[in-house]
Amino acid sequence: MARIGVALAVAVLGAPPALTRSANAQARATTAMPTADTTRVAEYRDAWWFTGAGFAQGTRFVRAGRFVAAPSAGADTVVSLAGRFVVPPYGDAHTHSPDSRFNFEAIRDVYLRAGVFYVQTLGNSRAGAREIRADINTPTSIDVVFANTPVTAFGGHPQLLYESLGLFRMPFPADAAQRLTAARSRAREGDVYLTLDSLPQLPAVVRRLRRDTVPILKMMLLDTEHRRTLADDSTAGGQYGLAPAVLRPLVDSAHAMGRKVWAHVETAHDAQLAMDAGIDGLAHIPGYGVADAPDSTLDRYRLPEPLARRIGRSGIPVVTTIGLARGAARDTAAQRRVRTVFEENIRLLQRHEARLVTGSDTYSDADIIARDATALTEVMGGDALALIRLRAVTTPRVIFPTRRIGALQPGYEASFLVLDCDPRTKQQCLLAIRERVKQGVHLRVPPAP
Ligand SMILES: [Zn+2]
Repeated sequence: MARIGVALAVAVLGAPPALTRSANAQARATTAMPTADTTRVAEYRDAWWFTGAGFAQGTRFVRAGRFVAAPSAGADTVVSLAGRFVVPPYGDAHTHSPDSRFNFEAIRDVYLRAGVFYVQTLGNSRAGAREIRADINTPTSIDVVFANTPVTAFGGHPQLLYESLGLFRMPFPADAAQRLTAARSRAREGDVYLTLDSLPQLPAVVRRLRRDTVPILKMMLLDTEHRRTLADDSTAGGQYGLAPAVLRPLVDSAHAMGRKVWAHVETAHDAQLAMDAGIDGLAHIPGYGVADAPDSTLDRYRLPEPLARRIGRSGIPVVTTIGLARGAARDTAAQRRVRTVFEENIRLLQRHEARLVTGSDTYSDADIIARDATALTEVMGGDALALIRLRAVTTPRVIFPTRRIGALQPGYEASFLVLDCDPRTKQQCLLAIRERVKQGVHLRVPPAP
C-alpha cells in the first residue's frame, strides 16, 4: 500500500497520472504507480464532499471507477485533497457541439476544463456524430447524448441556418436572394434536419428517424400562432417550425421508438402546444432569444400561470438557456423589457417547482456555459448549494437518467471535481477546478489556449 502524505496523486487505470503543476509545495504532485488492476482501491482523504445538502468532511474510496465502502484491507493508494471542496461534475443539457471531427479535441477540452462531463446535443450532424463515436463516452472524454436530426418544416429553422452555412458559410443569409436559395435547398436534409409538413409524410419521416438509435428527438416550434403567415412569406424563411397538426403524432411516433422528445419553443403558445403534444423536455423558455420585441408583442412570451403550473406538475426538465439570453449584444429599453418577461417566466416556473436545468445552446462557448448556471441562480435567488444541485446533480441526471451520477457516495460513478476554494463563499470557486476525476481516472486537460 503506497501512502503518499499530503500530495495530490491519483492511481490511474492504465495511464500515468496527470498531476497538478502547482508550485505550491503543499499541493505538489507525486506520482503513484499506474495500474490497470480494477481491484486496486484509491483513497481520497481530507476533503469536503458535496452531500446534496451541504459539504461533509471525510474520505472516499474508489475501485473500478466507482465509489465503494471503506475496504477492510485498506487502500492501495492514498491521495490527500488538502482540505479542498469536491463536487460532482457538471452537465449542459442543450448544446450543439461536438457534432463532428471538426475542432473535436478543442471542444472536448472546453467542456472538461469547465468541469462539464455530460453534454446533451439537441440537433447535430448524424454523420458527424458517427465520426467521433470512439472519442466520446469514455472515461477520459466527455459523455454525449445526441438528438441527431431535429424535425422541422420545409424552409424552417434550422434548415435555413444549416443550408446557409453549407451554401454561403454563414448561419444567416446576407440578403433576400440568399435567404430564398437557402430555404429551398435540401442539400443537408437527412443529416442535420428532417422536414415534416403534413401527416401523410409522417411514416417516411419515422422510417428515417428509425435509422438512429439515439434516445432523444428534437422538434421545432417557432411562433406557431403566426405560422401560416410566416410559412407563406418568402422573406420569413427560417422563422417557423412544425405545424400544430403534426406535433402529437410525431411525439407518439418518437415515444413508440423509445425516444424522449425535446421541444424548441419561442412563445408561450408554442410551449402550450408542446405540452399538449406530450413532450418530455422544453429546450427553451419563451422570451430567451428575442432581440427587440415591440411592446405590442411582449405578451406572446409571457407564460400564463396555469401553463407554468402544468409544466411544474408534469416534472419535465426545462432548459432556460439564460446564459445565451444574457449574451445579447444590445442593451436597449425594449431588450430589457423582454428580459424582464423572460426572467419572470423563470421565477414563475420556479414557484411551480418546475425542474429547471442548465444548457448553453451554443457551439461550445465557454463563457456562456459558465454564465448560464450562475445567471439562473441569480434570477432564482438561490445560494451556492442550489447552484451546485442545478449544475452537478439535476442537469447530469436529466441527460443520463439511468446512470448513478450526481452523488459522491458508494455505488455512484467516481467522477468529481476538486475545487481550489470554498464555493459557499464565492460562486467563482465552482470554476476554480484543480483536479478532474472521471470514473476513477484522473484527467489531463491542457490550459485554455
Ligand atoms: Zn439549440
